[in-house]
Amino acid sequence: MPEQPRAFTAASFSAYLKEGKLMGVRCRACGHLSAQPRPLCAACHGRDVEWQQFSGRGALSTFTCISVAPAALVKQGFGRNNPYCAGIVTLEEGPRVSARILGVDARSPQSIETGMAVALDLAELDPERPAPAFRPA
Ligand SMILES: [Zn+2]
Repeated sequence: MPEQPRAFTAASFSAYLKEGKLMGVRCRACGHLSAQPRPLCAACHGRDVEWQQFSGRGALSTFTCISVAPAALVKQGFGRNNPYCAGIVTLEEGPRVSARILGVDARSPQSIETGMAVALDLAELDPERPAPAFRPA
């Protein structure tokens, strides 16, 4: 028996992240790929969708360095004197995903280049709040 597909929800997306997988949703009717887990195709509004695992490779499209950190990141030492970087990564499969950007100097935003190659890195994943993270590839 094939495994029953998981619901196309943020909870499933987070569960996959904890397994080390960045998953998106592919429309079987028109092929549209999305990094947002929804049971409905954003392009053709069809409901015949399936999970697809992304390679984890992409390019940094835009980013921001944040010094007013949420509580969970303040606990990790981020804040006014230690900003963190968040950005939008365009995956090699096409969809864009918002993510933490690791391995860059957020105190020196001019050192961070848009367009640079990045790869998924879930080594520092917070199991309480799983979110995609990338670092320069
Ligand atoms: Zn579609």
